[in-house]
Amino acid sequence: MTNSASDQLFARALQLMPGGVNSPVRAFRSVGGAPFFVKAARGATLITADGRELIDFVCTWGPAIHGHNHPVIKAAIAAALENGTSFGTPNPYEVEMAELITRFVPSIKKVRMCNSGTEATMSAIRLARGFTGRDKIVKFAGCYHGHSDSLLVKAGSGALTHGHPDSAGVPQAFAQKTIVLPFNEPAALATAFAENPGEIACVIIEPYIGNIGFIPAGAGYLQHVRDVCTANDALLIFDEVMTGFRLAKGGVQELENIKPDLTCLGKIIGGGLPVGAFGGRAEIMDMLAPLGPVYQAGTLSGNPLAMAAGIAALKLLEEGNPYVRLDTLGWQMGEALVAAAKKKGLPAQVRQIGSMFSLFFTDEPVRDCATALKGDAKLFAKFFHACLDRGVYLPPSAYETCFLSTAHEGAAIARACEVMTEAIAGL
Ligand SMILES: *Cc1c(COP(=O)(O)O)cnc(C)c1O
Repeated sequence: MTNSASDQLFARALQLMPGGVNSPVRAFRSVGGAPFFVKAARGATLITADGRELIDFVCTWGPAIHGHNHPVIKAAIAAALENGTSFGTPNPYEVEMAELITRFVPSIKKVRMCNSGTEATMSAIRLARGFTGRDKIVKFAGCYHGHSDSLLVKAGSGALTHGHPDSAGVPQAFAQKTIVLPFNEPAALATAFAENPGEIACVIIEPYIGNIGFIPAGAGYLQHVRDVCTANDALLIFDEVMTGFRLAKGGVQELENIKPDLTCLGKIIGGGLPVGAFGGRAEIMDMLAPLGPVYQAGTLSGNPLAMAAGIAALKLLEEGNPYVRLDTLGWQMGEALVAAAKKKGLPAQVRQIGSMFSLFFTDEPVRDCATALKGDAKLFAKFFHACLDRGVYLPPSAYETCFLSTAHEGAAIARACEVMTEAIAGL
């Protein structure tokens, strides 16, 4: 270790916090080296504890679609702060937020605010079980839905058999209620329903996967998933915590014209503060307490500061309609990466839509968890550090998505294309 401010902070953190971090992927374990600490962030730039400026492609793991510390969001938080930080009663911001969400995402007729994406998915699953009176759920290998017990299950080798806990501490009995299937493979879903008649409460899916790198659904796949759920009276839950408001105002469900029964939201909806939400058909949502028997609650849910930040972020999306511009940036990055890899003779796949993209070092088209895992993670780690050395910060894992913000337009994107091209040439 050097004696940099980041290294000193990390040494102290390691004594006090497991792995020195409050969320595992921040620890750089899959790319090697020690993480840097950030003391400030503006636009597309992170400023480290040592005063280095980095062009940021993590965007706080998705939320910062307007760039860091956007003046309008900052002003909205400051204005709310004048009136107090938490009331423990309903507040006006919650109503405005619910109006915005239901307008942006028409499949959501009623919504409940919570404090993280994990809470949103965990509660949506409970609600689906309460509504249908069934216990089993279907998820897809490689989809991440937060860290609650039923959802921390990935495919074992036999994808159609009962799940195995992906984390220690998840009771086998919970994992057995979670059926894990391969993404983008229509036949698997119908088979799962045939083998578990009348038992599956819901199918939860990231409609485009963002958590094993970026993998969009194939043509017609999501419609198929919708149809199979409808035919089996199971609820379809779109986990749009990452894709919601990012790929379109109405998320992937707008792009693909599919109506899920429930939708989970998070990340962008908090404008950089901790917020989650889930919502959907009114008769399902009305099963929640205080109207119905499915319990869900939160001391800080609908927090005025968080709502003010989120409302400002959503309104900026409506006013600015940045999606075409963001897609141009994403396409530009993708082209640059593909060209650089080709020139160097490296196997590479880029998957990109709008402001989300991933580079996989593999020859094989990436369409699901298994093909994503074929990407060369060691080569990615080298690429990651080559970029970081040159002032560009990518997600510190081969299996994460890069995010763009409107603040990347112009100088940042041009410089990043240069850096990534150089980094690939040096691999
Ligand atoms: C980030 C994420 C979550 C979890 O959200 P947290 O706020 O980290 O709890 C759930 N689902 C998806 C698709 C996510 O990307």
